[in-house]
Amino acid sequence: MNTLPQTLLLQEGGSIAQDAKPGYIYHTFEVRPGIAALRVRLSYRKEGVCQLYLSVFGPDGYRGTRMKPGEVGEVELELTFGAGGASLGALAGAIEPGTWRILLDLERTHHATEYALSVEASLEPISFPSPPPAAAQNGRPGAGWYRGELHSHSHHSDGRTAVEDVVSAARRYGLDFLALTDHYTTAGWSELRSLAGPGLCVMTGSELTGHGGHANLHGLSEWVNPFVDGDGWTVNDAAQATHAQGGLFCVNHAFSLDLGWRYHRFDWRQADLIEIYHHLEGSANTPQLTLWDSLLRQGLRVTGVAGTDSHDPYSGQHRLGQVFTYVYAEALDSRAILAALKAGRAYVSLGPRLEFSATSNGRPVGMGESLEAGTEVRLEAKLSDLAFPARVLLMKNGFYHAHKDIAAGRDSLKLQFSDEDGRTGDYYRLEVFALKPQGGDYSNGREWERTLLLSNPIFLT
Ligand SMILES: [Zn+2]
Repeated sequence: MNTLPQTLLLQEGGSIAQDAKPGYIYHTFEVRPGIAALRVRLSYRKEGVCQLYLSVFGPDGYRGTRMKPGEVGEVELELTFGAGGASLGALAGAIEPGTWRILLDLERTHHATEYALSVEASLEPISFPSPPPAAAQNGRPGAGWYRGELHSHSHHSDGRTAVEDVVSAARRYGLDFLALTDHYTTAGWSELRSLAGPGLCVMTGSELTGHGGHANLHGLSEWVNPFVDGDGWTVNDAAQATHAQGGLFCVNHAFSLDLGWRYHRFDWRQADLIEIYHHLEGSANTPQLTLWDSLLRQGLRVTGVAGTDSHDPYSGQHRLGQVFTYVYAEALDSRAILAALKAGRAYVSLGPRLEFSATSNGRPVGMGESLEAGTEVRLEAKLSDLAFPARVLLMKNGFYHAHKDIAAGRDSLKLQFSDEDGRTGDYYRLEVFALKPQGGDYSNGREWERTLLLSNPIFLT
């Protein structure tokens, strides 16, 4: 846009105090008819932690977000967009005349700073390479167990790679489905849709990145307002808006210090999913299991899922394919995967495969299903692809019920458990941990760094 005729619509600044609380800062500007493109820029000096993110809204709605949380020094955030395309994080489309709004999200700060904001308008169209149209096929028919990733970021938010790299890594590491969950923005969706195919189902989502916690909004067809810390729009409203689109709300990394969950007015009945295994969170995964059990004991059917939270799909702890969420879906497509997740026909695995069922007198039921209470409950786990000798724990209502230690092996191993005192409201789930090579210690073996698999529950009604 540098070479095009342009006018300056806004040049303003502001200051952030050292002890500023997280919150939103608004600026507005007017756009007259006939403008073809806008460039909005924010610059500020960042000495340490000072997360200030740039979002723009036109008279007709949201137009994009730019964030660079990792950078220090002079931070420059830019959103350029028009009918001819858009820069990273921004949404292409015509420039509507009227009042526009800039939202600066002060996510947190540990030092004072000054910022400068500018808006330039161009009468000449801009052009960005536009992604090809959506792929003809997104997944394939046929019921079965499918495995995928529910938490990933691209360079449209704070991921380090293009959407195409996230998708190629998903294929390379054997995923059947991939949810792109960039912070705030939907800018990566069109490229994502163009990269789908019969072997990989792509799912459009976003990560609500609020001042009181993060949540993945899955299965969205349009943007849901993630700015839940002002304007009378709450996290409960965002969850309802997600459900209105047929989507699912997932509470992410609930114990990640100041990125953990602190929405104390959140209505937990709105939670469909919870991350019970987050690949970057280490020992903070242990309280996530405890939280999950406290929800399940209240009778809330929240499905436990995994998240890599990948910001770099080929690299280190962020590499895709180290932990999976498996679902039993009626087809490999977005609606069927969401339905399977909602129903709890799912487990988290770092390698092994599982079939888990329970019977009393009649037909066996699987994960997410309910068995009639009253007689002895017999539970059966079939495990395969075990790379390590393992301890399999049957948990009842979140507490230890029984365990079996098994050898490594590719072949399916059948384990049986029983409970003579199953009552309505009880639930059973499995945890599998790699056994320590030396043995001989007195821990119970439930250590997150040895996690191999976490099932979803079977319920008694
Ligand atoms: Zn997050």
